[in-house]
Amino acid sequence: MSRAYEKVALIGLGLIASSMFWAMKRGALAGEVRGYARSGETRDVAREIGLCDVICDSAAEAVKDADLVVLCVPVGAMGAVAQEIAPHLKAGATVSDVGSVKKAVIDAVGPYLPENVHFIPAHPLAGTEHSGPRSGFATLFDNRYTLLVPAEGTAPEAVQKLRDLWEGIGAKVEEMDAEHHDLVLGVTSHAPHLIAYTMVGVADDLRRVTDSEVIKYSAAGFRDFTRIAASDPTMWRDVFLNNKEATLEILGRFTEELFALQRAIRTGDGDMLHAYFTRTRAIRRGIIEAGQDTDAPDFGRVNKT
Ligand code: NAP
Repeated sequence: MSRAYEKVALIGLGLIASSMFWAMKRGALAGEVRGYARSGETRDVAREIGLCDVICDSAAEAVKDADLVVLCVPVGAMGAVAQEIAPHLKAGATVSDVGSVKKAVIDAVGPYLPENVHFIPAHPLAGTEHSGPRSGFATLFDNRYTLLVPAEGTAPEAVQKLRDLWEGIGAKVEEMDAEHHDLVLGVTSHAPHLIAYTMVGVADDLRRVTDSEVIKYSAAGFRDFTRIAASDPTMWRDVFLNNKEATLEILGRFTEELFALQRAIRTGDGDMLHAYFTRTRAIRRGIIEAGQDTDAPDFGRVNKT
C-alpha cells in the first residue's frame, strides 16, 4: 500500500490517536506523523514511548504543514480545538475527526474551518475501555468498520484518500449521512453503554448484595457490563450530551420493551419470553456471521477459575 498522506497531524493522543499512529506505522501509510495533546504529561509519555514521529508543544505547530489533520479529542472539545487550529491549516489539507457522534461534531467544527480545506468527519467503530496514550495498539481497527460522513459536494479525491488511509489501517470503510450515523450508533453503542452504566450502578446501590459478592460471583453477563461501564467518563458524558435526540428515542423504546418483558415475567407468559429470546439470539448469530465477533464460548476468554 502506498502512502496515503505525506504529513499527518493527530490532535489528542489517547486510545484512538495512538492506535491510528501504530497502525499507520505498521503499514508505512504516512511520511511523518506529528502529535499534540493539551497536557504536558501526555506529551511526555508520547515522547517516551515513541508515539508519533514528532510531538509538538502547540496544536498550531502540529497542523501547519499537515496534509491530513485528525481531531482525536472528546466530542465536546472538538469545536474549541477546531477554532484553535483553523488559522494554521494548510490550503488543500483534509481535516477529519474520530468522534463517536457526527452531527454535533459537524455543527461544532464546520463553522471554524476555512473554505480551502476538505472536512471529512469519520468514526472508527472500534475501541476498548482503556484510554490515554499508552492504551493504543496497531490492530485495534483491523476488520472493524470506519464510517465516513462527508458533506454533499466534498471532493471525491479527498474522500478516496481518507478511505485509502483507513483501509490501509485495516478497517472496512463505508459512507453514511450524519443523522443516520447518530441513530445507528445510538442503537448499537450509545444506549447499550448507558444500560451497562445503569446496571453496574444498580448493583452498586443494592447494598444487600455485597461488593465482594458482586465481584466474586460476577458471571459473564454482569462482568461484560462492568467492562463497558469502565469506559472513559469524559468521552461518554460528551457522547450522551451530543447525541441527545437519538439516545432519548432509543431509551424510550427500550423502556417500553423492558415493561413488556417485566409484564411477561409477572404474568408467567413463558411463550412471550421464549419468542423474544429466540429473536435476539438470531441477532447474535448475524453479528458472528458478519465477522464482527467470535463465536468461541464466553467471547474466547480463557477460563482462569
Ligand atoms: P482518550 O484516550 O481519553 O484521549 C483523549 C485525548 O483528548 C487526550 O489526549 C486528552 O488530552 C485530549 N482531551 C481531552 N479533553 C480535552 C479538551 N477539553 N481539550 C483538548 N483536548 C482534550 O480518548 P479516545 O478514547 O482516544 O477518544 C477520542 C475520540 O474518539 C472521542 O471523540 C471518542 O468519542 C472517539 N472514539 C472513542 C472510541 C473508544 O472506544 N474509546 C471509539 C471510537 C471513537 P490529555 O491527555 O492531555 O488530557
